[in-house]
Amino acid sequence: MGYLEKPEPAPHRSMCTDCGVSRSSDPKQCSIACQFIQPNYEALEQSVHGRARDLGKADELHFGPFIEMHRASLKKPSPGAQWTGITTRIAQKLLEQGLVDAVLTVQADPSDQWRPLPILIDKAEDLQKARGMRMGYAPLLSLLEPAQALGYKRLAVIGIPCQIYALRALEKSLGFEKIYVIGTPCSDNTTTENFHAFLKLISPEPENVTYLEFKANYHVELRYKDGVKKEIPFLQLPLSDLPRDFFPLTCRTCVDYTNVLSDITIGYMAGEGEQWIITRNKRGEELLALLGDEVRLQKPGSAGKRHSAVIGFKKNVELAAGGLPLRKMPNWLRPIVGWLMPKVGPRGLEFARTRVEMKAIESILHLRRELPNRMKHLLPNHIWQLAKPYELAPELHEKAVKPQSSK
Ligand SMILES: Cc1cc2nc3c(=O)[nH]c(=O)nc-3n(C[C@H](O)[C@H](O)[C@H](O)COP(=O)(O)OP(=O)(O)OC[C@H]3O[C@@H](n4cnc5c(N)ncnc54)[C@H](O)[C@@H]3O)c2cc1C
Ligand code: SF4
Ligand code: SF4
Repeated sequence: MGYLEKPEPAPHRSMCTDCGVSRSSDPKQCSIACQFIQPNYEALEQSVHGRARDLGKADELHFGPFIEMHRASLKKPSPGAQWTGITTRIAQKLLEQGLVDAVLTVQADPSDQWRPLPILIDKAEDLQKARGMRMGYAPLLSLLEPAQALGYKRLAVIGIPCQIYALRALEKSLGFEKIYVIGTPCSDNTTTENFHAFLKLISPEPENVTYLEFKANYHVELRYKDGVKKEIPFLQLPLSDLPRDFFPLTCRTCVDYTNVLSDITIGYMAGEGEQWIITRNKRGEELLALLGDEVRLQKPGSAGKRHSAVIGFKKNVELAAGGLPLRKMPNWLRPIVGWLMPKVGPRGLEFARTRVEMKAIESILHLRRELPNRMKHLLPNHIWQLAKPYELAPELHEKAVKPQSSK
């Protein structure tokens, strides 16, 4: 049996991705739960993983605390999954083996396949409804109280970073015996309405698009109802035709691309065409082990150099002055560069590092422009370290301050 709630419009707050806490019986909890109010990543990494990220260990500055990383695929991909379906398959295994009472995740709104709708799933076969990516904000955590009311004690939660931050900040007060956290990376999210406008720009038949993904080969893949697939190089996307506020400030300045507070993160950035798994703690390793030999695992590769790509991105963000990065390249050159980038640009782990550094730079530049007084609260030290090679350093008033307490 699933428990589905049709959300009312979100209570208005600036810098809010409607993770669901403001819809709970105690909306004041936002002040301790929100990554956009008074975050304390170091303290939460410590309490979730037993340690904060080790800046001396390769790749923890970029991806947060981890035990191991893998390039991965399900040997038998799940139909309807965003990639091969590792995320929902792990959750299915948890239900099949009776390790959790329910899984909290999202499914598509029956009236709009792109709109995420929170759901509690307590039957393994129902997880197929959750597969695939939706664009937009889902008040996922608004179903925590209903989960308590239904008597669930052990929960799995699948979520994007801003949802998982709030979950972790509240976890100890929620009273569940156990919560398994399966996270995906997230970047460049926007409202479902904005996403529909974007689809109209990139496809003459947006109503027939069933799948969209920004892939590590520098292309956007579109799939249509009739089975046709199309790939559009990033450079040919009509970004300059989108309104300046197409991406809300939250998503332009969000500092947790790789979902560092999850037990296991499942994305694609370092996967070179496959998925990318980061196990972050013992519980994350247990989750991966549930897949047994259903999953093919390899060491992630890494190639190319990121520095000049990140410098180019920084210049574009500066030129765009708060809007979307401008494309200064002439039209005739774009297909050639679009063809070259997957071959010579950063690949594998280097692609993932590139994207994380770009995101850090974007956060700094957008906050400097739009919310300079909040920088000391919103930007943790590691963001400044990521941006250091690109001549970005904090002014005195921008330096990170630690909140008195994060919980
Ligand atoms: C808005 C968004 C942006 C993303 N950006 C990146 C990125 O830049 N780099 C990267 O490596 N990965 C990104 N991801 C994750 C990636 O798209 C895949 O979800 C992930 O790789 C898992 O694939 P899978 O086949 O294992 O997932 P599946 O087994 O198909 O499961 C996907 C899970 O994601 C949940 N989900 C779908 N949409 C949402 C949503 N809007 N909010 C919350 N949960 C949702 C589904 O309910 C389901 O549980 C993003 C995901 C989202 C939702
Ligand atoms: S905690 Fe969630 S609901 Fe509250 S302000 Fe932050 S994003 Fe919005
Ligand atoms: S980009 Fe960040 S703030 Fe925006 S939806 Fe994704 S995790 Fe949340």
